[in-house]
Amino acid sequence: MKETAGIYVHIPFCLRKCEYCDFHSIVVNDRSEFLAVVDSYLCAVQREAQYYASWMEEYRFETLFLGGGTPTAVPAEKLAEVVVYLRELFQLPVGAEITCEANPKTITAESLNELRDVGVNRISLGAQAFQDSLLDVLGRTHSAADVSTSVQALHAAGFTDFNLDLMFGLPGQTMADWQATLERAVDLAPTHLSCYSLIVEEGTPFYDLFSRDLLDLPGEDTEADMYALARDVLQRAGYRHYEVSNFALPGNECAHNLLYWKNQPYLGLGSSASGRVGTMRYTNAADVPGYIAAWQHNQPNIAHVEALDKDKEMDETLICGLRLLDGVSEAEFRERFGCSLWEVYPDQIKNLEERGLVQYRAGRLSVTTQGLFLGNVVYREFLRSSERRI
Ligand code: SF4
Repeated sequence: MKETAGIYVHIPFCLRKCEYCDFHSIVVNDRSEFLAVVDSYLCAVQREAQYYASWMEEYRFETLFLGGGTPTAVPAEKLAEVVVYLRELFQLPVGAEITCEANPKTITAESLNELRDVGVNRISLGAQAFQDSLLDVLGRTHSAADVSTSVQALHAAGFTDFNLDLMFGLPGQTMADWQATLERAVDLAPTHLSCYSLIVEEGTPFYDLFSRDLLDLPGEDTEADMYALARDVLQRAGYRHYEVSNFALPGNECAHNLLYWKNQPYLGLGSSASGRVGTMRYTNAADVPGYIAAWQHNQPNIAHVEALDKDKEMDETLICGLRLLDGVSEAEFRERFGCSLWEVYPDQIKNLEERGLVQYRAGRLSVTTQGLFLGNVVYREFLRSSERRI
């Protein structure tokens, strides 16, 4: 039986850079230059897909995720062309989950219709907050009202499955702001919500302010309270907390991201994209012109390749799997690796159980509520090689 896999396409264009963002994306202000770069870039994506397609026969592709950047900064007909191309090349089944990330102000009923008509059936919208003052601080290009307008456009175009991204731990954000954001988000009836705490990444304008002690962050305790509040408000509204940062109505979990958390294969296409195929993980260079130039000669532009041995695969299965509140199935682990969790991690599991951070119930090892708040302590236990990332 073929193994299930997904496809990720990185679309590295944004209208402007947000103050906290360290994702790989570029801003091209001149419209005709932008459209020319987009054409060359999407042509390179198709070449890269073609290059990998012949090696991929052992996989059954079931999800496609267009992420960024801001995929919807690109004209919808160009994105639609790529979706059609990839669906055919990798024989995605009818109804396969196809997600497109979007930002408010970059979608209209027309552009959404175009995407829906080629099979995009899930939109992930970057809302972040419902206070214009906070959106300004973040450097977002939209207002809170734009989020509501975009959700109306989603409904008008028939998208019933959509995610809202929200952020907490923001400079100047109060508990009351966060509560209002959660409540406004719930009122818009998304099927899925992602709640991320702000991480101040090196090289961003926020990092510069942070290093000069000019960023008014809420502090670790308030951040933990904000996380607890999200769990409380969203679970009461019927969302299942299924992954550290993700909540979904039953049946609306993100199938593509579940592949990552279950440490299953995925193909990554585009500048800076990573893929995990067979026993290899690769990361493309974060360089749009370099990516375009390389594929003009049908050459990959890979920055890093890593061979995955069995130990790494086991560790990553645990580390990623424990992000899911359902945890890791002992039977699935045994079937995949031919050994028990307790044979490989006897001391780690015992130690974490004694500290009340993990539990074993109904054949699954999972984090407790306390372990959820101390995720990094849990994941670190399962890192048997120093080079691995969480
Ligand atoms: S829109 Fe998203 S990817 Fe683009 S700069 Fe802002 S946070 Fe980064």
